[in-house]
Order: sequence, then C-alpha cells, then structure tokens
Amino acid sequence: MKQILVLLFLFFTLTSWKADTAGPWVITEGKRVTLYSRPVGYSKADSPDSIAIQSIIREQEHVIDHINQRLNTSFDTKVKVFLFNRDEAKEKIGTNGGGFASLNKSKRHIYFTFHEKPFLNTGLNQYDYLGVHEMVHIITINQIGNLRTRFFGEGYANALDGNYGVENVNGILTRKRNDSTLIKIKANGKLLKPSVLLYNDSIPESEYYPQIGCLINWMFEKYGVDKINLLYDLKRDKIEKAFQRVTGVRFKDMETAYMEFLRNK
Ligand SMILES: [Zn+2]
Repeated sequence: MKQILVLLFLFFTLTSWKADTAGPWVITEGKRVTLYSRPVGYSKADSPDSIAIQSIIREQEHVIDHINQRLNTSFDTKVKVFLFNRDEAKEKIGTNGGGFASLNKSKRHIYFTFHEKPFLNTGLNQYDYLGVHEMVHIITINQIGNLRTRFFGEGYANALDGNYGVENVNGILTRKRNDSTLIKIKANGKLLKPSVLLYNDSIPESEYYPQIGCLINWMFEKYGVDKINLLYDLKRDKIEKAFQRVTGVRFKDMETAYMEFLRNK
C-alpha cells in the first residue's frame, strides 16, 4: 500500500506539475527556438546576458538538428524555452538542478534552470547550458509517438543526450558520460538486464538513466533507428512481442546478446 501511495504521488507530481511562467521575460527568437529569459537584475542570481542568450539559442538549434539526424525525424516547429534564474527555479518549476519538458504535444515548452557557467559535454565536444535530453522529449512526442514507458521515453532522451549528471574535473564542470558511468556500474556488479529495465519501476534515476541510455543506443546501432521508432509508443505489455515482429529477434535473445556485448566492455 505504501508503495502504491508513493507511485500515485509520483504519477501525480509528474503529470500535474505546472510551471509558473509569469513574466517579466526577455523574449529572443531563433529559427525554431524562442528563448524566454529573465531581464538582467531580475533576482539575486544571474540572468543570462545577450551573449549567453545567443549561445543558448545556437546550442538548442544545433540540438534539434542533431536529434533529427539521429532519429530520422524532421521536426521543424517552434519550441519555447523558459529559462528560470537559479534562485527562483525551485519555486517555479520544482527543481533548480535542471528542468523538464511539457508532455503536452501541442505545447512544446521546455522549463529549465539557468546555470551561469555552461557544462563541458565531451560527447558533442562543446560547452552547453541545457543539453539534449529535454528536446528529445519534445521531438519524440511530436514526431514518433506518445511517451508511454520509461523504457523508451527516458531511453531515447538518455541515449541521445549521452550524459547524466555533472562532475568537477580539474575545475571544469563536466557532464558525466553514460558509457563511463556504465563501466563503474559494471565494476560494482549492478548491471541490469534489459527485461529488468523494462519491468522494474523502482530503479533510481541515477542507475536507470545511464543504463537505459546505453541500451537504447546499442539497439539503434544493432537494429536501426527506424525499427526501434516503431516500438516507441507501445504500451509496456506489447513491447516484447512487437520487438520480435519488428526486428526478427526474440526479446530474450536480444537480452543475451546485449549482456554478452557488455561483458566485453
Ligand atoms: Zn526525461
């Protein structure tokens, strides 16, 4: 019962959290990305200046192209990014570490915390403010299907982002790569099989995100992204059967092949 209450609570917070988007905002238009940021001096924490604003728009335009290329999609619609100052974010969007994307298909909003210093992304070899994760949610919902499972919903976001969390490396705030985290998880004997990632809802984010990201990346390479896209918006109890129909491989055999692949990493 306690577990049910916790799950209900989680469901409630994830689906009913509403960002407080009251102004004032500085609105800057890119080709597809429209950035809403706070005017300079809005709060004690820094607001982005015009240089940061342009960097963030350039970054997210590039992120859209990167996702379209990897997923064979052609997303070309306006996205609103609301960027909250660090000292107001917790109250307005529920976190001051990152943010979230609206799961409402027609809304296409990202709500995120502004960090004064961008993070080094060693996968894309650039510094970034927002990263890739939330834009993947926007593009998959609009181009591939509804987010029905954590397996594919978070799987896609983490596969394309390639990072989870941030660490200080010689004074440089650096995103932690999922492939490096996976090696540590393996060393700790905590590797999880694909079927566990599919059916177990209680795996903490810090273990789940890097592992599901690596698995979905591997699936893209092994079976091709177009086939995996066909599975994206299925309900969980339909995935194993559909996997075999679409790829010609039994889910169980895929699992064996993947664990074998990890053994050699
Ligand atoms: Zn996500």
